[in-house]
Amino acid sequence: MTSGKTDEPLVKENFPLKALNTFGLDVRARYFATIDSDACLELLLDQEIFRDRKFLILGHGSNVLFSSDYDGLVARMCLKGKRVVQEDSNQVVLEVSGGEDWSELVTYTVDRGWGGIENLAMVPGTVGAAPIQNIACYGQNLVDVFVSLDAIDLASGTLKTFSKEECAFSYRDSMFKRSEGKRYLVTKVRLSLSKNPVTDTSYHSRYDSIEDELRASARPPFTIRDVYRAVCTIRTRKLPDVKEIGSAGSFFKNPVVSREKALELRKSVPGLQVYPVDQLLYSQGGKVLVDDSTHLKVPAGWLLEEMGWKGRRIGSCGLWPKHALIVVNYGSATPGELLAFVETVREAFFQRYGIRLENEVDIV
Ligand SMILES: Cc1cc2nc3c(=O)[nH]c(=O)nc-3n(C[C@H](O)[C@H](O)[C@H](O)COP(=O)(O)OP(=O)(O)OC[C@H]3O[C@@H](n4cnc5c(N)ncnc54)[C@H](O)[C@@H]3O)c2cc1C
Repeated sequence: MTSGKTDEPLVKENFPLKALNTFGLDVRARYFATIDSDACLELLLDQEIFRDRKFLILGHGSNVLFSSDYDGLVARMCLKGKRVVQEDSNQVVLEVSGGEDWSELVTYTVDRGWGGIENLAMVPGTVGAAPIQNIACYGQNLVDVFVSLDAIDLASGTLKTFSKEECAFSYRDSMFKRSEGKRYLVTKVRLSLSKNPVTDTSYHSRYDSIEDELRASARPPFTIRDVYRAVCTIRTRKLPDVKEIGSAGSFFKNPVVSREKALELRKSVPGLQVYPVDQLLYSQGGKVLVDDSTHLKVPAGWLLEEMGWKGRRIGSCGLWPKHALIVVNYGSATPGELLAFVETVREAFFQRYGIRLENEVDIV
């Protein structure tokens, strides 16, 4: 079966993925397809390929760690397009296809003066993957601008629109990251952006602050473009460039712990910054499990730094010298070596603080 556009087969075999995952791991997919048109998607659905085989939807591969060659179908989401579906004097609702580049989308919105995602500049990946873990940074979360998304249930081939509530977003999580959500392909995402934006410059960490960056680079009143530029500067300084160093960003989530535990940590690590859990609900079956009154988020990177692990390297694996939460591949690491390194970090953290770090990255 061909894609229709060329004589190339729709599904290729033994396909190399090294250039398609930002860890740069030299792995292969037993079967591989690129979804770059509605026709191509329809063909794949008609053939019931997703029903017959184990599959993985791939965007830009910037939040996955392949544990070995993938013994199934890897389908790469490349559907493009964006359009305004609603507009008034205050806001615009933008509908964006899942294969669009997130970072380019942020630039596009800032260029038009539409606010709401400028702090999410330079987050690698596709628009379709953004809701999967509710991407967030520098004080903005995808959920804050999210309206709805369209996704195809690959088991039945039916299209469904999901509201914010149905996506069950929480900190670096959504329904789609859990087993019941893995059968969906996100095709379109709708975001509500403000035409009268209010900038959020409140973010600061142990080393960086948007306010400091703005004071050095712009004049008040600060615009969303100023904030966008400040975030780009901080990220360029602090994060590894995936074109040169393999990584998937923060490997672990910041732990959410009880207020008592956070207090205990602050006694052993003086000055440790703690964060509110925010409005993000940690719920199951409609029941809120975690909220601001009982729990706090603690910075795992800071705690790893206290352990002397920032910048530590074992063979080709390491924790990034400028950001301890980022696991990097210095070039020739194998999946097994990276997995072993991650477990070593997790165990050392547990021995020191009694907290088991959870993965943010999807190990497949
Ligand atoms: C240097 C660096 C910095 C980063 N900084 C941040 C940050 O600041 N904040 C943040 O939140 N994240 C950050 N990340 C993580 C990453 O950018 C996001 O998770 C991003 O959304 C992943 O997009 P992707 O297209 O690469 O997804 P992939 O890695 O290809 O996929 C990730 C997961 O989503 C699923 N998926 C992807 N596309 C779809 C789709 N269309 N439908 C259904 N499922 C899908 C995949 O199956 C997989 O489970 C960073 C990563 C790197 C490498």
